[in-house]
Amino acid sequence: MKSKNISTRILHTPFLRKDSNNSLRMPIYENVAFEFETAQEIEAAFRGEIPRHVYSRIANPTVEHFENQIKEASGALGVLAVGSGMATLANLFVAIAAKGNNIITTNKLFGNTFSLVSTTLPSIGIEFRLADMTDPQSVEKLVDSKTVGIFFETITNPQLEVADVKALSQIAQKHKIPLICDTTLTPPDLFTSADFGVDVELISGTKFISGGATALGGLIIDNGSFNWSHNENLKPFHDQVGPLALIARLRKEVARNLGATLSAHNAFLLSLGLETLTLRTNKACQNTLETARWLEKQAAVKRVDYPGLESSPFFDLSRKQFNGKPGAVLTFDLDSKESCFKFINALKMIRKATNINDNKTLILHPASTIFCEYDKQTLDAMQIRQTTVRLAPGIEEAEDIIADVENALGAV
Ligand SMILES: *Cc1c(COP(=O)(O)O)cnc(C)c1O
Repeated sequence: MKSKNISTRILHTPFLRKDSNNSLRMPIYENVAFEFETAQEIEAAFRGEIPRHVYSRIANPTVEHFENQIKEASGALGVLAVGSGMATLANLFVAIAAKGNNIITTNKLFGNTFSLVSTTLPSIGIEFRLADMTDPQSVEKLVDSKTVGIFFETITNPQLEVADVKALSQIAQKHKIPLICDTTLTPPDLFTSADFGVDVELISGTKFISGGATALGGLIIDNGSFNWSHNENLKPFHDQVGPLALIARLRKEVARNLGATLSAHNAFLLSLGLETLTLRTNKACQNTLETARWLEKQAAVKRVDYPGLESSPFFDLSRKQFNGKPGAVLTFDLDSKESCFKFINALKMIRKATNINDNKTLILHPASTIFCEYDKQTLDAMQIRQTTVRLAPGIEEAEDIIADVENALGAV
């Protein structure tokens, strides 16, 4: 009987095959090739007639176990783990779109994702059209016969905007295109994407899933709700393998050919992190809410953005979609860039680093770092302000995070 609790399912994900030494934890299969007894057997494995590993760029037992844990966690139809969050995005878009197709998205995206959709993929003929995801009508207006998907992030970073996922899914369903969501800020224990009509979920495992920021990795999750025969690039695969068309094309063509492999060692580290995911997300979300509430009361702080605050325009939507735990990233504004820098330099415990959802609390000034390659006009359009600091609370005690912030605000 399957538990209704996500952490129990993650911890007790069965091995697909019995380990020959009865290992209780999936070992790290740090090998590339797998041996066969006969030429007939290796032929059958290549044809996919027998379920055997052949070469670790395509599949590996340690990576496969991690994929199965994510499948148990999310209830998905199929999961492919790849080498980074960016690899999930690039491979997914190349799998569903060909030259001449377009995907509707927004300019409020993770910095490197915006670079991918505004430079790299357009250079091979895949167009990205920018809409406002908080205004579903602006999304629908851009859909045409060449549109192959709607792509957005659950909680945008650093704007911390939240889209109405059900409203977007209605548009996607009406036009028979998949709804694709980067849920890195809200992993499966915070957001059950399938319940809100997300067809494909993309996660950077580097963040909350690894926890300690020990390894890069990413997950492409097919919830099984989209009929891939409606996508001309995936129809041939759908004719062959049915509902698993997307994962099949990725594993047997796109990710294989582009070499997007997750290493066995990193799969092991991510799997270890995944086992404590719910403990850490609960603590980090609680710390974020407490810190955000405290910040709201400080005179030096001009504004605080966190969807868990009642003052946020996204509070009600977040409560519905994320079960009251809208991630562990907040931003706040001081009066100038100079004040932000003074504040950051005065911190004693909180670390200056470009990452989020680490076990340690991290701080960054987004405009001068992740978004430093963009001009003022682009930054204004993205609502990236020079006065904003991004704080990603970890799993220390909230009083220690607040004490460090309080002390540093005194220096501003
Ligand atoms: C970090 C991040 C990515 C990229 O993930 P990597 O593992 O660093 O490649 C993509 N999307 C979001 C929302 C992220 O936070």
